[in-house]
Amino acid sequence: MSEEYDYDLVVVGGGPAGSSAAFSAAKAGIKVALIEKEESIAETVRTSGVTWIQDIKEFGIPRECYNPIKNFSFCSPNNKVSISDAIPRAAVLDVRKTYRWLARQAEEHGADIFLKSTITDAIKNSDSDIVGVSGTNQGGKVIFHAKTVIDASGFPSTVSKAMGYVTQWTRFGAGAEYEAKVENVQEDRWWLMVGQQYSPAGYAWIFPLNSSTVRIGVGIGKPESDADPAQKLKEIIEKMEGPIKDLGEITPIEFHYGLIPNDGLSRKTVFNNLILVGDAAGQANPLVLEGIRYAIKFGRVAGDTAANAIKSGKTTERELRPYEESWKREIGSKINSAGKVQDRWIRLTDEGWDKELEIIGELKPDEFLDFIKADFGLSNVLKLATRHPKLAVRQLFNIVKGR
Ligand SMILES: Cc1cc2nc3c(=O)[nH]c(=O)nc-3n(C[C@H](O)[C@H](O)[C@H](O)COP(=O)(O)OP(=O)(O)OC[C@H]3O[C@@H](n4cnc5c(N)ncnc54)[C@H](O)[C@@H]3O)c2cc1C
Repeated sequence: MSEEYDYDLVVVGGGPAGSSAAFSAAKAGIKVALIEKEESIAETVRTSGVTWIQDIKEFGIPRECYNPIKNFSFCSPNNKVSISDAIPRAAVLDVRKTYRWLARQAEEHGADIFLKSTITDAIKNSDSDIVGVSGTNQGGKVIFHAKTVIDASGFPSTVSKAMGYVTQWTRFGAGAEYEAKVENVQEDRWWLMVGQQYSPAGYAWIFPLNSSTVRIGVGIGKPESDADPAQKLKEIIEKMEGPIKDLGEITPIEFHYGLIPNDGLSRKTVFNNLILVGDAAGQANPLVLEGIRYAIKFGRVAGDTAANAIKSGKTTERELRPYEESWKREIGSKINSAGKVQDRWIRLTDEGWDKELEIIGELKPDEFLDFIKADFGLSNVLKLATRHPKLAVRQLFNIVKGR
């Protein structure tokens, strides 16, 4: 016996991309199922949750879901710089609260949420187009028929793989993190730590959540390094490397582990009756591998596009293409430019990082935020590449410009 359902739109994955897609599609008045394999939304946290207050406000995320940040500190083996902003423009999310709020928005607009339901397969019609998904829940086999499917399953991209449209990401980041109670926290300051002692290809971080809790983590680029981020994390905490020693006693309360794609714009994200969004689409800023705001933003675009297509009675690739055009127009060139800076960073030696921090320390808060967010407005980049008084800063922004 199997359970069987019929929906206009089936969204696989209850992360930020899936919940946001389900929200906008349900709001547009179509019948939506949001399917999540875990027992609750955000049961497992796989992210450090840094994002930007401007985006948070645009999405309407409530104030109790985040901790504002206005001091940005960096350290390399022999250098340390800090940039201080007048007002907080970055934030560390309470990931569970935020992701559950996003899912509740979808539910309140009429989406049905199916928990403990793991999708394993795609159902195809005689033209080999997707017309549903199947998997298992507590009762056994479960089948969802749909006019359109959104693959928001994150890194594994389960539906797109089942369709044979994608293979495993080849370049990606692996991250391990402790959420921990500590003795001393500067609540509005984050730390990024670079160089071999912290990560052989990536960076380590301290992100504060409140006056007594931080996330301490290590991210490592694959295949550039085969080091294990969980091992490296243990090591830097045991050795109390750099700013970790200032935290005082560290009592871990939760361990987080996750993978994030870093293959740039390598995937096609629309097919007949199918959209890929969030990590399944590779929508991440390669500079610091952050993807939450893109997942929410383009999740909403995906849901809207799917709803319009479903209402028009046609859901082929052609009707779904405005989604891909929209997200590529907005972030395609930014992701490409940020990829060039990432290529430079991956190759830096410890001495190279000491010098790179000098350059970063030259940036004004606005310039720094645009840079780290990969928000390379052309005029801004041109200005920094041609007119900045420091040669090293001009050189860095010439890379972004593509020279
Ligand atoms: C260590 C680490 C740190 C990060 N830090 C940041 C950061 O500070 N800021 C930032 O913006 N980004 C960060 N990211 C990236 C960010 O987490 C992702 O870009 C974001 O989570 C993408 O959202 P998503 O909804 O596409 O995927 P996910 O958040 O991965 O959600 C996918 C959901 O689908 C569910 N699912 C998967 N397979 C199935 C299936 N077969 N059936 C049913 N459900 C399924 C999963 O359980 C999950 O709930 C980090 C990533 C990592 C790995």
